[in-house]
Amino acid sequence: MVDRVNHLPYFYGSITRDEAESFLKQAGMADGLYLLRQSRNYLGGFALSVAYDNKCHHYTIEKKISGDYLIAGGKSHKSPVDICEYHAEETDGLVCLLKKPCNRPSGIQPKSGPFEDLKDHLVREYVQQTWNLQGDALEQAIISQKPQLEKLIATTAHERMPWFHGKRSRDEAERCMLRGSRTNGTFLIRDRDDKGSYALCLIHEGKIYHYRIDRDKAGKLSIPEGKKFDTLWQMVDHYCYKSDGLLQVLTEPCLNPDHPIDSFGLTPAPPIPSNHPRHKGEGGIFSRIKSSSFPKSGFPRKKSTMNDRSVSTTNLNPYIPRPNKQAGGAEGGARRDAMPMDTNVYESPYADPDELQGKTLYLKTDCLILEEKELGSGNFGTVKKGIYKMRKKDINVAVKVLKSNDPAVKDELMKEADFMHQLDNPYIVRMIGICERECLMLVMELAEQGQLNKFLMAHKDISLNNIVELVHQVSMGMKYLEEKNYVHRDLAARNVLLVTQHYAKISDFGLSKAVNSEENYYKAKSTGKWPIKWYAPESINYFRFSSKSDVWSFGVMMWEAFSYGHKPYKGMKGQEVVQMIEAGQRLDSPARCPIEMFELMQECWTYKAIDRPGFVTVEHRLREYYYTISKG
Ligand code: ATP
Repeated sequence: MVDRVNHLPYFYGSITRDEAESFLKQAGMADGLYLLRQSRNYLGGFALSVAYDNKCHHYTIEKKISGDYLIAGGKSHKSPVDICEYHAEETDGLVCLLKKPCNRPSGIQPKSGPFEDLKDHLVREYVQQTWNLQGDALEQAIISQKPQLEKLIATTAHERMPWFHGKRSRDEAERCMLRGSRTNGTFLIRDRDDKGSYALCLIHEGKIYHYRIDRDKAGKLSIPEGKKFDTLWQMVDHYCYKSDGLLQVLTEPCLNPDHPIDSFGLTPAPPIPSNHPRHKGEGGIFSRIKSSSFPKSGFPRKKSTMNDRSVSTTNLNPYIPRPNKQAGGAEGGARRDAMPMDTNVYESPYADPDELQGKTLYLKTDCLILEEKELGSGNFGTVKKGIYKMRKKDINVAVKVLKSNDPAVKDELMKEADFMHQLDNPYIVRMIGICERECLMLVMELAEQGQLNKFLMAHKDISLNNIVELVHQVSMGMKYLEEKNYVHRDLAARNVLLVTQHYAKISDFGLSKAVNSEENYYKAKSTGKWPIKWYAPESINYFRFSSKSDVWSFGVMMWEAFSYGHKPYKGMKGQEVVQMIEAGQRLDSPARCPIEMFELMQECWTYKAIDRPGFVTVEHRLREYYYTISKG
């Protein structure tokens, strides 16, 4: 959202109240003169400063979990701009109507927050070090999980601050404070318990004072009666600039002796916020970690270690502990949603060069253990759960077991295997190999939560945000297929499998083909058992399949997802659907579907393939929308 308001002439970015007041004063303090700024205590929030009766009035605009914005006690709005527009018409609790925006003087740009400049760098390092990812796997992890990663970084960033001492008793903290220069304003923050409360220890006139920092039910942090903050670093940044109830402002961090300061690139100099009177114009608390790297020990890696023969179960619990518990909990031991990278199917098991050694399409039969559990079935036979023993680890797998040894059926499966063999993407079910016993078997990565449509049908409480996240992941997998000049030809919610509630993979490549690079499409010789309701007009009329016809199917898959697993064109025959499409009609919007998502579906159902967006555009649109609704 910050990116979206940055262009507004009356948006000032992360400035303080005092700075807002000085801008309003410079502009004349007429009643109703207002400006918008970024909240310095709430992640994703804003503040509205209004002049009235020669005084400045400040209103916090909070971002709710739903993605709406509101001033406490007021109405919800889609954006902070909508709030300003609303209050130009209605006071509704404000001191006066908003009359005139106080535009930024020429040459003044919105000020970026202490975290803004660094977060891309911090996120990248965090992902690299936590999951040991590189190259495409790293990029894809960042793209698909950016909002979650940024929040994680923001809420754990204090753990890498020199003033954070983690678990330290009151006495130890005092001893540590007294060892130093005892300058007024020297401070540290330590954990008080495992429930997410902390203590701020501050030296004032030679004495040490301890302030409790409590966490309220909404997760906000504050000293008793004090201003509330989402994160400790925002709190410290604020009290460095203003005492605001403390005996004095924070000046120097009491350095944590256990802290690997060098690995942060930090100097022992005190953190001085951007707006501190002592250091006007210079970087804030984060300015000193620009070239930082995270302490290696700080983020235990999720990967299984060498010779780990335990079965690498996919993490099926939608909630897993935060990776870094060792330095105390920013979220007070709170749990976060599992990310794709937390599971064992994010990277191919063959990403490990040792496992790749001597790899062939055919797997060793005695390394595969089949379980009784059936995951599903189709015309070809059944899909069973199993364990495959690799060189260094055992992995859970899904095994497609052919029911017949008919050479034509075998041939079909071999074609599917050959196709899957060429794919390696986190959002596509990977093939591990082929196994031949009494019957031919296709061994694949396991996506234990099953088909997307069935999952959503059984979990109607899943948020729209979660659905956008999954649909975006599917678009990432499809973008990869498009890049490789492959067409899926059977994209539907039933063929999107879930590893977890937050991790989708495209499956079922039985109909997939490589496209003719000159013509950009694959031409089928005749019709077959086709999923007509998912097919684009050119596929039905001219047997033409391209990434653009996959985009049409993607639109139908989106429709299924946003209608929580309902069948598209329910009660209609294939031929009726064809007539409906030819007549220019399309599926209606599912109930509760965000307008932006329905608009995208409609674009996917553009009649002419040439005018339809490709997956690069579709993925980008979903990405932008997902980031917008997830931030804050
Ligand atoms: P279709 O009828 O769409 O052609 P199919 O007969 O080719 O499908 P698949 O879709 O490949 O069969 O698999 C049948 C079912 O088995 C799936 O719907 C799913 O429930 C389950 N299944 C398949 N692959 C996996 C997997 N990798 N992990 C978990 N379950 C799987």
